[in-house]
Formats: sequence, C-alpha cells, structure tokens
Amino acid sequence: MREVSPRDGLQVEAIHLSTADKVAFIDLLSSAGFPQINAVSFVSPKAMPHMADAAEIMSAIHRRAGVVYDATTPNRLGVQRALESGVPVVSIFVSASLSDVRPGATQDDALVAATDAITQARESGLGVIAVVAKAFGCSIEGEIPPTRVRDMARRLAAAGATEICLGDTSGEAGPRQVGRMVGDMLDLFPQTPLSLHFHDTRGLGLSNVLAAMDAGASRFDAAVGGIGGSPQTRNSTGNISTEDLLHMCEDLGVDTGVNLDVVLEAYRFLEEKLAHPLPGRLGKFGRSRKAHLQ
Ligand code: ZN
Repeated sequence: MREVSPRDGLQVEAIHLSTADKVAFIDLLSSAGFPQINAVSFVSPKAMPHMADAAEIMSAIHRRAGVVYDATTPNRLGVQRALESGVPVVSIFVSASLSDVRPGATQDDALVAATDAITQARESGLGVIAVVAKAFGCSIEGEIPPTRVRDMARRLAAAGATEICLGDTSGEAGPRQVGRMVGDMLDLFPQTPLSLHFHDTRGLGLSNVLAAMDAGASRFDAAVGGIGGSPQTRNSTGNISTEDLLHMCEDLGVDTGVNLDVVLEAYRFLEEKLAHPLPGRLGKFGRSRKAHLQ
C-alpha cells in the first residue's frame, strides 16, 4: 500500500495545514506501517501553494526504516529538488488524455518530457513511479484507447521506470475494464511492478481494487479518509479510502502490514484539522463488530 493523502489528498483542501501539522501527520502515517508514503510534491509554489514547504517537510519528518518516502515531480527541476531533499523515489505523471496536452504541443512532447525526467532521476540513483493518469477514461475525452495506455507504459518502462502506476484520475474505471487492463499489463511488463491508483468518484473504487487483485495486482494507492482529487480535473473526487481498503483486506485475509487502528487515529487527526467530514466510510461508522471478532 502506498499512502497518498499527504500529497494527493491535501493538495485540494481549502484549509492549508501548517508545516508542523503536515510533519506530525506524515510521522503518524509512518508509524502505521505503510511501506510507501507519497509525502510531498516538488512543484511551482505558484501552481500549488499547498506544497511550498515540501523541502522543509522532508527535512523535518522522522524517516522510519522500512518506509519509502516518494515525491511527485512534474519535470527535471522537480527531480533536482527531490534529490536535494534526499527523497529516494519520485513519481512522474503523464496523462493518457489528449485533452491534457498543452496548446501548441503534442502528447509525444509530454511523453518525451516525462521520459527525460525519468532518465535524469534514474541516472541520479532514484527510483521512479511512472504514473499514467486518466488511464481508464477521461471526463473530457471519454474513452482512452487501451493501446495508447500500453504504448505509453512501454516507453516509460523503457526509459527506466521502476514501477508503472495506472491512475483513474476522475473515477471512470469499472471492474471489468480494470481486470482486462491489469491482465494485459502484467503480461506485457512482467519485470516492472504495477500499481493502481483509483478514485471513488462513482462508487466503484473498492470493486476496482478487487478486480485488479483478482487479475494479479498487489500494489494500491489510497488516502486516509478518502480525501483528495485532482485540481486540474473536473468531477474528480477523493481517492479510495485507506481505512476502507484495509478493512476489506482484513476481511479477505490479505496481510498489508498496516495497522488499521493507527490509520483511524490519522483519520481523526485529519478530520479535526480539515474541519469537515471526510468521505471514507469506516472512519464514520467504525469497524464491523463481526469483522472485529473474527
Ligand atoms: Zn488520486
């Protein structure tokens, strides 16, 4: 499990957490036992004022052994800043939707920029999660041809990505599509770990996880409280909720190594700091007594 709430989650909130609160939150997540935490992004403070303190956060958190902290970086400059902050892994996005191509540019330009940043990161000894955003559909373009996603993944893997992540940025995916896509990806890229990043926009988040697990996937992004979304994407709601996913894994007998009680503590911390109810269900209603007794 990769916990994305500190970056993907907090970036769309109206309330900006203080640096000290972000550090306390990430430290709490570290103690929950997540193997990986998407802690910050190194982007222009103009574009993302929430992340202006990324370097301070990375120097203040208590880095726990066994936890990989990654930073989202949009380009070579971001990779450089990540390196300076001692971040071992970066995540680099490229959208599968043609509607995200900048005016005057092509999707190929975006891919070249991403593979450039990947090459630079790899040469500097960093791991790279290459994220294909909107891999399952786009709220503007609609269908995204699976061949396009596979071709993008091929180029990102060839550039040296150490993990490919398929993002369902605006919650377009359904279980059947996910099962097919995951099966294809695992066949095509057996050497590159595959992770999935689902949003619960239309209520299919956990169904999609289950379909991906059935097809052989084992790495998932989630956010405490189900917070988050993309500031650039219309109709984007929260990520799948970490505690809901953990609860499902407990029921399935899948050992994640993550302590649900500590995650629920993180949920309450966030709910208090953000001062609004969070979308996740388990935090509201608590564990099933039945599951608890099993
Ligand atoms: Zn997300």
